[in-house]
Amino acid sequence: MRLVVAILAAIGSATAVSAQPTVPAGYHLIEGALEPGRGPDGNSVFIEAPDGLILVDTGRHPAHRDRLLAYARARGRPIVAIVNTHWHLDHTTGNGELRAAYPRAELYASNAIEGALTGFLARSRASIEQALAAGRIPQANRAEVLRALDAMDHPDMLRPTRPVTRSGPLNIGGRRLRVNLAPYAATQADVWLSDPAARLVVAGDLVVAPVPFMDTACPEGWRRALDEIAATPFTILLPGHGAPMDRPRFLAWRRAYGNLLDCGASDRAKAECVAGWRRDAAQFIPAGREAMVDELAGYYIDSRLRSSPEERRLYCPPA
Ligand SMILES: [Zn+2]
Repeated sequence: MRLVVAILAAIGSATAVSAQPTVPAGYHLIEGALEPGRGPDGNSVFIEAPDGLILVDTGRHPAHRDRLLAYARARGRPIVAIVNTHWHLDHTTGNGELRAAYPRAELYASNAIEGALTGFLARSRASIEQALAAGRIPQANRAEVLRALDAMDHPDMLRPTRPVTRSGPLNIGGRRLRVNLAPYAATQADVWLSDPAARLVVAGDLVVAPVPFMDTACPEGWRRALDEIAATPFTILLPGHGAPMDRPRFLAWRRAYGNLLDCGASDRAKAECVAGWRRDAAQFIPAGREAMVDELAGYYIDSRLRSSPEERRLYCPPA
C-alpha cells in the first residue's frame, strides 16, 4: 500500500512541476556545495561580457575556488569584474585568491561590509578564537575556521572598489546589467542583478534553498526585496544556493518565506512553523537535508523572527 502511495505521489509531482529551467547562453552557474557538518558554498555565476568574464560570488571552500579558476581558464577569458551579492563568507572568501589571479578585476558590492567588520564578523572572530583556545573546534572543521579568520584578516579583499550605493543600470565589463540594492534584507544591503534582455535574475541569498539563511537578516526588509524581484520581468532566477528557478518556483519560494514570517509573528508553536516551512518549501529541500533544515529553521525562528528588540536593532533599521 505504501508503495502505491509513493508511486502516485511521484506521478503527481512529475506532472505538477515543470521541467528544471536551463541557464541561457552567456551565463554559467557553478552550484555551491551544501554538506552537513560544514559551512556551505554560495552559488557562483559567470556572465560573458565584451571585455571578459563577470563573476558573481566566490564561494567559501578551496574546492569551489578551484572550480571557478578552472572555468575561467577553460574559457580563456580574464575575469574583469567580481560582484558580491552580500558579504557572507560563503560568497566572498574566494575574493582574495580570485583577485590575486585577476588583479585588474573590479569588485562591485554594497558598503554593508563596513558595518559587518565591526559588528557580526568581529563577534564571530571573538567566538571563533574562544572556541579555538578552548579546543572546541573539531579537527574536521579547523581548516574552514582558519580560512574564515584569514578572510577577516584581509578586509580589503571584501571591500568594493566600485561600491554599489543605489539601484540602476550599470555597465560592467562592457555589458549592461541592472544592479539592484536591497536595504535591510539578508544583510544591511544586498545586491541582486537583473538582465532584461536575457529575462534573468541573479538573486544572491534573497532566494535560497533549502532554508533562508537569516543570520544577519531583517526579515521584513527581505520580504520587501522579494516583492521587488516579483515585480521584475524574468523567466529564470539563479538563487544564492540551490538550483535555477522558473517564475512559478520563485513564487512558491516567496510564498513559503512569507508563511514562515507570518508563523514566526504568531503565537503558534515553533515546531508548527518549522513543519510549515518543510511543507511549503518541500521542492527546494534535497533528500537527506531535512534534519539540517529543521535545525536551522528553528534557530532562525528563535533568533530572528522572535528576537528581542535589542537583537532586532542589530539588523533592522530604527523603527
Ligand atoms: Zn549564502
